[in-house]
Amino acid sequence: MKFKKLTPPADGEKIEVKNGRLHVPDNPIIVWIEGDGTGPDIWRAAHPVLNTAVELAYEGKRRIVWFEAYAGEKAQAVYGELLPDDTFKAIAEYIVAIKGPLTTPVGTGFRSLNVTLRQVLDLYACVRPAKWYEGVPSPMRHPEKVNMVVFREATEDLYAGIEWEKGTPEAQKVIEWLKKEFGIEVRPDSGIGIKPISEFASKRLVRKAIQYAIDNKLPSVTFMHKGNIMKYTEGAFMKWGYEVALTEFRDYVVTEQEVNEQYGGKVPEGKIVVKDRIADNMFQQIQTRPDEYHVIATMNVNGDYISDALAAMVGGLGMAPSANMGDYIALFEATHGSAPKYAGKDVVNPSSVILSGVMMLRYIGWHEAADLIEKGISETIKQKRVTYDLARHIGVQPIKCSEFGQAVCENMKALVEKVLA
Ligand code: NAD
Repeated sequence: MKFKKLTPPADGEKIEVKNGRLHVPDNPIIVWIEGDGTGPDIWRAAHPVLNTAVELAYEGKRRIVWFEAYAGEKAQAVYGELLPDDTFKAIAEYIVAIKGPLTTPVGTGFRSLNVTLRQVLDLYACVRPAKWYEGVPSPMRHPEKVNMVVFREATEDLYAGIEWEKGTPEAQKVIEWLKKEFGIEVRPDSGIGIKPISEFASKRLVRKAIQYAIDNKLPSVTFMHKGNIMKYTEGAFMKWGYEVALTEFRDYVVTEQEVNEQYGGKVPEGKIVVKDRIADNMFQQIQTRPDEYHVIATMNVNGDYISDALAAMVGGLGMAPSANMGDYIALFEATHGSAPKYAGKDVVNPSSVILSGVMMLRYIGWHEAADLIEKGISETIKQKRVTYDLARHIGVQPIKCSEFGQAVCENMKALVEKVLA
């Protein structure tokens, strides 16, 4: 692989896909992008946590070899452009990558750097877990019951971006065409938006969501849709979802209807229940009966709303990790933006990017290191050593972003020493 300005580290090996599975060496090269605004702050805290966890969990036998690629302002400085080809190539070649937040440029050809990365690399599933850690302030009475993962389709629906402004020749043309061809009246002063939902994109998203439930031994997958109103887009998503479940995963799943009609309301041992909920009801259910939902598969806009609602229920954006996944390529990222007003102040919560690192470690199968970080974060929060976003709700003095990272490292070391003692 020829890069224009990047030099891959000599002391690591590539993660490869063989027979449909990831092959991860003990010294995998992982691409990282620092990001804009608070990106450098959160990475200064996150890198030591990820490295320490791997070192502790595998006693030095495993190690991440970090390979920096550039996007956003740093790329502008190095390449004179915001998203250089080298960055796409590096992620595609090394398969697993993790990034900090990127400021959306104003007045350039990019709608958003994040959206461009997803589209160019065909990262069609935006995966966002919502899990509560003890001690994190939450508006829920029983936040411990919240443990869901949202699979949000990331290439179509309103993300396809088919829109025309009121009064433009394009909008007028579509309005006239609708009238002439279908006798449909649309007010002439309307803006127009079109949402495509395809069988191909819906099925590959659902396939990934069900496979995730199987791999992680989770009890249910729920299709969230507004199919009662939008029958041929949202309704079709649900229909295609059931088709995938029943044709490709028949041995692993039962539908909720089958549970009720054939199994007397009791889920057969070891089976994953596949169900669907209308979007508005889903919002109620995640709050009133959170423990009945585990994986939620949905389209772009629904997924956007529900994942932020879930993030709020478990501690807000500072605690919310995510991943953008294609068939194999996975780009993990902090969910929040670059929060420019806090840039360089060493105050924001680095947990989002650290927990994205936890997702990444699980993706490469390094569960011991991932478990250790989760325990380290829990312990640190229980000790009320938290950044400003959580401190103001708990009513304690905040610690700095870097101090939080150090505290997690200390707690991980203490946990390992306790086990060894
Ligand atoms: P933001 O997420 O950057 O910040 C909004 C608020 O959330 C902040 O003012 C802060 O109060 C809080 N917050 C954010 N990160 C936090 C953290 N780690 N710890 C504690 N609190 C945190 O959203 P914004 O201000 O709307 O966007 C700023 C820029 O980031 C924009 O250019 C936007 O387009 C971009 N953005 C990027 C991504 C991404 O890279 N995935 C996501 C969202 C926004």
